[in-house]
Parts: sequence; structure tokens; C-alpha cells
Amino acid sequence: SREIHLAQRPHGVPDADTFALEEVQLPDPGPDEILVRNHWMSVDPYMRGRMSGARSYVAPYQVGAPLEGGAVGVVCKCGSGRFDPGDVVLHGLGWRDMALVRHDAAQRLDISRVPEQAYLGILGMPGLTAYAGLVEVAPVRAGDVVLISAAAGAVGSAAGQFARKLGAARVIGSAGGPEKCIHVVEELGFDAAIDYRQGELEDQLHDVAADGIDVYFDNVGGEQLEAAIGALRVHGRIAICGAISQYNATRLPPGPRNLFRLIQTRGTIRGMLVSDHAHLKRRFFEQAGRWLADGSLRYHETVVEGLENAPRAFCDLLAGANTGKMLVRLVD
Ligand code: NDP
Repeated sequence: SREIHLAQRPHGVPDADTFALEEVQLPDPGPDEILVRNHWMSVDPYMRGRMSGARSYVAPYQVGAPLEGGAVGVVCKCGSGRFDPGDVVLHGLGWRDMALVRHDAAQRLDISRVPEQAYLGILGMPGLTAYAGLVEVAPVRAGDVVLISAAAGAVGSAAGQFARKLGAARVIGSAGGPEKCIHVVEELGFDAAIDYRQGELEDQLHDVAADGIDVYFDNVGGEQLEAAIGALRVHGRIAICGAISQYNATRLPPGPRNLFRLIQTRGTIRGMLVSDHAHLKRRFFEQAGRWLADGSLRYHETVVEGLENAPRAFCDLLAGANTGKMLVRLVD
């Protein structure tokens, strides 16, 4: 079987030297294990953090060891009686064709109504992140003006649609480039989009939200966060979900210069971690499942073929090559 290992920790932007494709011989599954043939693996921005050695909320990847991450596959051999061959499961040992998974680290999936890879995106961790952010971290109230950054991405595209479902009066997205901005408005139903690469964020934001914003769901940090603080209305709420504009930084830029604005607005900025919101899973799952079934929730995928191309998929994700969830398909 093949696996992608961390060859060396990246300094700045990861490249081909960061990764190594290795052949390994897997043993038969033990009594608490199942052998899974992975169909899909996820590449996610948080993996950049795990590639560096820095202390965080998850342990760093080890140099010379396989990378890990969300994956969906089919059980081929069972040591454990909890699963049967043919079961489709979600687990955390992506970045490899075959995975030896502990039976308590795999979740059987119902794929009767959605494609299996939806559990890595809209019905999975990114979808729950968007939902939790707008329900609990920076709650959306009826009539709010809501701004979402990385709006064409996995989390952002879901967040914009959830904001509307939660009663937002106006939903604005920001994304890189005109095509993504058109996608966000025409395919995902945002009211407006701004292209952060065009600069003049404050002016652009003023054009689409002249009276300011009530909620900002931040996926990127940096200048966009500062512009959002500047546009925040009284009692506005900001969820710090991600800061992808800084993940490859070798020296962190100074933070927002306008935090004093929070005094005038009595605004709130709150960090979030999706794993704190597991109690929302069932409710999220039922609601999102219903919205998918009635066609009112849309999602897109950017699919890269083959394990050998997973490093490229990851680097492309950080560079913004994806629309919707970035996935790697491991078998036809
Ligand atoms: P996306 O699908 O949104 O892909 C990442 C996107 O980030 C790219 O498509 C790109 O879009 C954008 N981007 C890249 N570089 C920059 C930059 N310099 N400035 C602005 N945008 C940039 O990824 P996810 O939906 O999986 O994740 C979105 C964010 O949510 C990430 O920050 C991630 O770390 C965070 N996250 C946090 C979780 C939590 O629990 N706190 C859980 C899950 C995700 P564009 O072309 O528009 O630039």
C-alpha cells in the first residue's frame, strides 16, 4: 500500500520536498481493527499547522511518519466484529490508499441519500464548523448583515447559506478573483461579493454594506479582519474560525490596528474550535440533511485524482485553487 509521509517540516509555503510517497506492507487487522480501502481523503488548511512543529490543539505530524486526516473508504477486512466488509466508514487516517483503523476511530456512514464524500465536506467537519460558528460563536439574528471570508471555500460556502437560513437579511462574501465572486452570488445565493485581491477593502465593503455589518465569520485574518472590525455595527460579533492568510507566514504581521473600535461598538471577537461543538452534531446533521434533500443547500467540490497528487492538492488549497471542498479521490 502507498502512504504520503512528512519528509521535512516546511518553512513558509510547503512544496514537493515537504512530502514523500512511500510503499508499506500492512499486517492483517488485529482484534480491535479494520482494514479500510480509502476512496476519498480530505486536504484541510489546519494540516499546515500540524506540519510545523509548533504546539497547538492537535499534536504535530512527525517527520518520517505518514500524514493523517479525514478519509472515507470501504472496509475490506475485519479483525473487529463491530464492522462488516463492505461498510463505508469515515475515519482519520487519510493520506494513504489503505488504512488500518481502530474500530473505535471509525464511523459507519449512511450513503443512501448523499455521496460518501459529503461527509468530508458539507455534512462533515467543515459544514459543522460553519454551522457552529453562526449558531453559537457569533450568533446570527434575524435581520443581520453578515460577512463571510473565503466564501467560495468549504466552510465559507456553507456559512453563507446557513447565515441566510438563520435569518440574515443580507449575506456578503469575500473571495479571491472575479470567478469566485460570481460563483458565490450566482450559485450560492449570497447578496454580494467582494474580491479582496482588488484591494481597497474598506471601500468595497462600504459599497455593499453601507451601514456596516453585524456578524463577521473570519476564515482568513489579516487585512480582512481589520476591515470587518472597521465595519462592525454596535454589538457586532466576530467568529475567528481561521487565519489562512497567515498559515505560511514565517513572521507574523502585526494584528488589526483598529481594535479600539470594539469600545465604540461593544463588539465581540471570539475564537472557535469545531471540536468544542460536538453537541450540535445531531441537530446540524438533521437540518443540513433536510436542506440538502430539498435542494436549498448547495455545495461544490474540487477533486484531484490519485494519492500521488495529494501533496499538490494540499498546496493548491492553500493557494486558493479550490472552489468548494478540496478532495482527493483515491480510487475510480
Ligand atoms: P477553503 O475551502 O476555504 O480553502 C481555503 C481558501 O482560503 C482558499 O480557497 C482561498 O480562497 C483562501 N485563501 C488562501 N490564502 C488566502 C489569503 N492569503 N487571503 C485570503 N484568503 C485566502 O478551506 P476550509 O473551508 O477547509 O477552511 C476555511 C478556514 O476555516 C481555514 O482558515 C481553516 O483553517 C478554518 N477552519 C477552522 C476550524 C475550526 O475549528 N476553527 C475548522 C475547519 C476549518 P480564495 O481564492 O478566496 O483566496
